[in-house]
Amino acid sequence: MGIMDSKHKRVIILGSGPAGYTAAIYAARANLSPMILTGFQKGGQLTTTTEVENFPGFPKGIDGNELMSQMEQQALRFETEIEFAEVTQVDLSERPFKIYSGDKLYTSDALIIATGASARYLGIESETKFKGRGVSACATCDGFFYRGKKVAVIGGGDSALEEASYLTNFCERVFVVHRRDEFRGSKAMQERVLKNEKIEIVWDSVIDEVIGDDSGMTDLRVKNVKSGETRLLGTEGMFVAIGHTPNTSLFADTLTLDEKKYIVTESGSTKTNIDGVFACGDVTDSVYRQAITAAGTGCMAAIDAERWLAEQ
Ligand code: NDP
Repeated sequence: MGIMDSKHKRVIILGSGPAGYTAAIYAARANLSPMILTGFQKGGQLTTTTEVENFPGFPKGIDGNELMSQMEQQALRFETEIEFAEVTQVDLSERPFKIYSGDKLYTSDALIIATGASARYLGIESETKFKGRGVSACATCDGFFYRGKKVAVIGGGDSALEEASYLTNFCERVFVVHRRDEFRGSKAMQERVLKNEKIEIVWDSVIDEVIGDDSGMTDLRVKNVKSGETRLLGTEGMFVAIGHTPNTSLFADTLTLDEKKYIVTESGSTKTNIDGVFACGDVTDSVYRQAITAAGTGCMAAIDAERWLAEQ
């Protein structure tokens, strides 16, 4: 590939969510002048939330975008270089590590991976066709557009239940389409959903087809997996809430991943199977997935990287 531009740093951090920014704050304060490559969604998943009410230090809650902007400012205050770049390829076979973003090359002595996770989709053709035109994976981002309309939420976990409740703030009717006859989400969330009169549960059902025209989605056909019957729900929006996938495709050939494709780190540390490569935040965590735990492991990664660099 024709490289136009190359830059070397002692530490490069991939990702700009709570893990990435916290790693940057700690690495910068350790005089490592780190660089963050933000990824395509600067600020990460919290920028698609509204109010964050469980991040300590903000007793009245804080807007997700505002929280990420404050983390960014804190990282900048200690000489972090932040580049809006999407990494397209990495070469971790020798040091310095090589990180490519299109025709730009970055090299680093230590690498901290904080690339997070992304919402999963069903993967059916009609869903892809109407993505952004009726199909969404973020009720808090897009719910407002469906004011007074009917929508469906797909999934039976806490995310689906929470999104369904939230959507009743705008929508006339909310269907929750779940493939089984029992929710996975917590009892408290289930109760809230089951007693909400605007919500109807469509049990034992999967999406047969997202229907629409040039203007976008116009209806949704679901299929009962037990009876085989199909039904049109009359919804103009579909919110998919079936979990997340870690953003690890760049590392699939080099780093050890677990069966769900999360990066495996050494117990009690952020070390990966490659010396000098550390991982933190949701890309390593299928269990807690919280902003505060991501920030915590981001701090660990910076300390691990600093100690490792000192030993070299
Ligand atoms: P979960 O993995 O908990 O749930 C995913 C849901 O999607 C399941 O009901 C699953 O069905 C369904 N599903 C998965 N794949 C498909 C598919 N291909 N087609 C149809 N349905 C599918 O993910 P969540 O994002 O809901 O939650 C993740 C974690 O985050 C959990 O630990 C949750 O408790 C937590 N969380 C907590 C919140 C809170 O406390 N306020 C809010 C949101 C999340 P099945 O049940 O049949 O497997």
